[in-house]
Amino acid sequence: MKLYFEAEKFLRQDGKPGSGSLQSRIFSERGLKSSPKHVFALVHSTSKFKDHINHIIKKSKVKQELATKKVRVSDELLALLVHDLLFSPRGRIESGKHPIKDAFLSNKTRLQAEFIKLKLKYKIKTVDQLPTKDSSANETPVRWFRINTIKIDPERFFKKHPFFTKLQPVNSFQELTAPGLVYSDDYIPHLYGIHPREKLSATDAYKLGEVIIQDRASCFPAHILNQDPHDVHKYVIDACSAPGNKTTHAASYLPHTADDGDGVVYAIERDAKRVAILRTMTEKATGRNKKKKIQVSHRDFTTIKPEDYPDVTGLIVDPSCSGSGIFGRAADNDAPGGGDGGEEEEAKDPQIDQERLKKLASFQFIIMKHALSFPSARKVVYSTCSIHAEENERVVVDLLSDPQVEKQGWTLASKDEVIPTWPRRGIESEFIKLSRDAKVCRNLADGCVRANPREDGGIGFFAACFVKRDHVQDGKSDDQE
Ligand code: SAM
Repeated sequence: MKLYFEAEKFLRQDGKPGSGSLQSRIFSERGLKSSPKHVFALVHSTSKFKDHINHIIKKSKVKQELATKKVRVSDELLALLVHDLLFSPRGRIESGKHPIKDAFLSNKTRLQAEFIKLKLKYKIKTVDQLPTKDSSANETPVRWFRINTIKIDPERFFKKHPFFTKLQPVNSFQELTAPGLVYSDDYIPHLYGIHPREKLSATDAYKLGEVIIQDRASCFPAHILNQDPHDVHKYVIDACSAPGNKTTHAASYLPHTADDGDGVVYAIERDAKRVAILRTMTEKATGRNKKKKIQVSHRDFTTIKPEDYPDVTGLIVDPSCSGSGIFGRAADNDAPGGGDGGEEEEAKDPQIDQERLKKLASFQFIIMKHALSFPSARKVVYSTCSIHAEENERVVVDLLSDPQVEKQGWTLASKDEVIPTWPRRGIESEFIKLSRDAKVCRNLADGCVRANPREDGGIGFFAACFVKRDHVQDGKSDDQE
């Protein structure tokens, strides 16, 4: 019992203001008889599962039972004992005799019964699958996946993969409170949300590349580019491609024309290592033997000559950014194969300094301006996984204020061209530099969409859609008229 008596006071202080880090308190404590390593591991893990442990203590009424036997135990000591009995890998209390231990263990059956109920409630087999404060802060609230329509027809998909038909449909992503449920997204075709603990990566559909794990907001750019059936883009550039989520999504929208082929997404990526990831991902998504729907180039997009791509009408520009909309392992959604890697190459840093933001914004402006100079381009979607206006609306405002961009005929698309039913739009006040008229600012902000991290079911995101008014009138392109 010595270990528990020594750990008790550290658990009591844990998280209290001014108490310092748990590790430093334990390792700097003089006179500890137990190994500081063991004390730390015990307190840390008990603290992690605290809510579940307290739930079991309450439901099993173990505290009241001990009181009737006149055994006085602090809440912390009791939590440590419950931890080791139920939540530790060895599943037992430290060896040695003690009356508290004996009294506690006389409640073993009722404690274990409550533990089983807890596991059933969360539909889990092992303790590490339990949601904890740590994990819920880092985890995406929803695991989003889209059916890869390049490889499989959605109807055949559900016939081929019964795992997905067994899931119970719900009406909103907020209802995805446990595995076994599925939400069909209202905004992006063939996109679904499931509980993050659902074992999606173990399915054949995932292994075959017939589903692609991709955050919902990250699906916005390719959808915005292609949402108008009258404005078809056969040749598309993805200017900043790796790991390739938006590339493969954009490829799924390419038109199928029997006469002169299916069209191409030119996937450009500057970073050598990330090009390798991009190639793997695009091959998995399109299959080796298919006609090349995606052509990968290891290039710096700003060095590409626009006149070399005379047929390109649509571009997606998703440049490096602060990544401030990305949290915890949510970035994994956008990594190749849903594994480690992350969507962006920048550090996730919500505390990013102004100097760095300025540098990023000026790079984002340059890369966008280059995209807007492609001779046949009529739609360019700009996006970031940042929540900072500096990288989002302000880059858009700077572009719209640029005389060359203005001369080329670029403006922001209207709301009905940019996922009109999505409620969270750009920040209106950021457009005041362009007009004092609130209505004009509102219309400009409506040409942008934003997603708030977690609240909107995934990463924080921004997208703006530029259209060339010379070409697009009343939602129809010139060549359709
Ligand atoms: N669109 C990707 C997706 O959805 O999977 C994520 C793109 S990530 C945010 C930005 C990528 O742009 C990085 O891989 C980075 O190496 C690449 N990049 C940055 N500057 C570039 C440039 N000048 N030319 C081409 N790629 C660039």
